Amino acid sequence: LSEKLGRALKSLAGQSRLTEKNIEEALREVRMALLEADVHVQVARAFLQRVKEKALGVEVLQGLNPTQQFIDIVHQELTAIMGGVAPEQPLDFASRPPTVVMMVGLQGSGKTTTCGKLAKYLKKNGRSPLLVPADVYRPAAIEQLHVVAKDAGVPSYRTEERRPVEICKAAVAEAGLKGWDVVILDTAGRLHLDEVLMDELAAIKAACGPTEIIFVADAMTGQDAVRSAGAFHEKLGSTGVVLTKADGDTRGGAAFSIKHITGTPIKFVGAGEKLDDFERFHPDRMAQRILGMGDVLTLIEHAKDRIDEKDAERMAQRLIKNQFTLDDMRSQFQQIQKLGSMQKILGMLPGMGKMKDQLETVVTDKRVKHLEAILNSMTPKERQNHNLLDGKRKRRIAAGSGRPVHEVNQLLKQYLQMKKMMSQMNNPSFMKRMQAMSN
Ligand code: GDP
Ligand code: MG
Repeated sequence: LSEKLGRALKSLAGQSRLTEKNIEEALREVRMALLEADVHVQVARAFLQRVKEKALGVEVLQGLNPTQQFIDIVHQELTAIMGGVAPEQPLDFASRPPTVVMMVGLQGSGKTTTCGKLAKYLKKNGRSPLLVPADVYRPAAIEQLHVVAKDAGVPSYRTEERRPVEICKAAVAEAGLKGWDVVILDTAGRLHLDEVLMDELAAIKAACGPTEIIFVADAMTGQDAVRSAGAFHEKLGSTGVVLTKADGDTRGGAAFSIKHITGTPIKFVGAGEKLDDFERFHPDRMAQRILGMGDVLTLIEHAKDRIDEKDAERMAQRLIKNQFTLDDMRSQFQQIQKLGSMQKILGMLPGMGKMKDQLETVVTDKRVKHLEAILNSMTPKERQNHNLLDGKRKRRIAAGSGRPVHEVNQLLKQYLQMKKMMSQMNNPSFMKRMQAMSN
């Protein structure tokens, strides 16, 4: 979703004002991007309508820096449609413990795994959760939950009972006696929506009075996840959603649609099979991520605030002439540090999505400091002409910067890569956009 949306928004770059006409064009592209990403038609329509209303309103009021304004509006509306600002506490707790959390969803959506992830998360936050296996239909499911509980370092409820409602009731009673303050019920799923299952879940709900009923949605199933979230919500009155398998090759449409269609917020996101692959869901950050990638415009806005304009211009000139030197690399590192974390920057460069992950591990911010130290230990002549750097000079630079020689070599390798990358970016359309933005 992010890359497509990024591309759609870039079509606005260089426009000096937001008019009905160019908004219309940009919106059409945004619409295509949304639908291609499997966003629900109804959601896309509502979203575009709101963006359009706001964008036209803003133009009348201020008329300043329209592209940035448009992106701001899209960001605000993306955030709003995915649930607005995340609450301070993702889960509600009962005023009298134990709090009962019921995990529901289709078979294979990740309920059992999510039980373990949530238990581990709660334990880290000072709670003492109990995991309860109530999926009695699959022989392996109960054992799976015991294994997950052990992994999470929390107790799980063991019983000879085989009736789900009875298991849950007894477990909640026992938790009350033993002082476990959150009881997480791992319920059964089916491959498809099923009345018998729904009735069983409703009976568990009636017997245990859960504070939270969490629908576990498999992000990989796209619109199906959205539909079943709606059906479970209708029948059970769910209080929130955990979006699982967000690490897979998903098109992002599910996250975008769930809140709007079902009215229930995404509370957490699972992005991997391990118990630690579990995070709170922040609509604003998600919106930023969707927009962030490929968003040259924001990068330039950012850069304009903090980077010395002359420096930026000089850099642009050098890019044109393809004379990127080690000196330029050094001033880039300095600017990068001014701009904040590397990750954010890389995420904003077009087409750098994949590269970002690779670079992230290699170029951490600490490493940038080391690289800068190495560059500082070079003479100006050396920085102007990297061909001067022979073995002897490299050893001197290594000693001067307090870094090993192989890091000096690594830096040179990286420099040559950057130089190559720069010359790739150095195409007329990119420069035109930059110039358009700086007017
Ligand atoms: P349940 O049938 O709803 O209880 O689903 P399970 O918890 O047994 O999970 C089904 C499969 O999905 C298992 O192979 C899990 O390891 C996997 N799974 C669960 N959550 C995630 C996730 O966030 N990312 C990935 N990649 N796999 C997950
Ligand atoms: Mg299960």
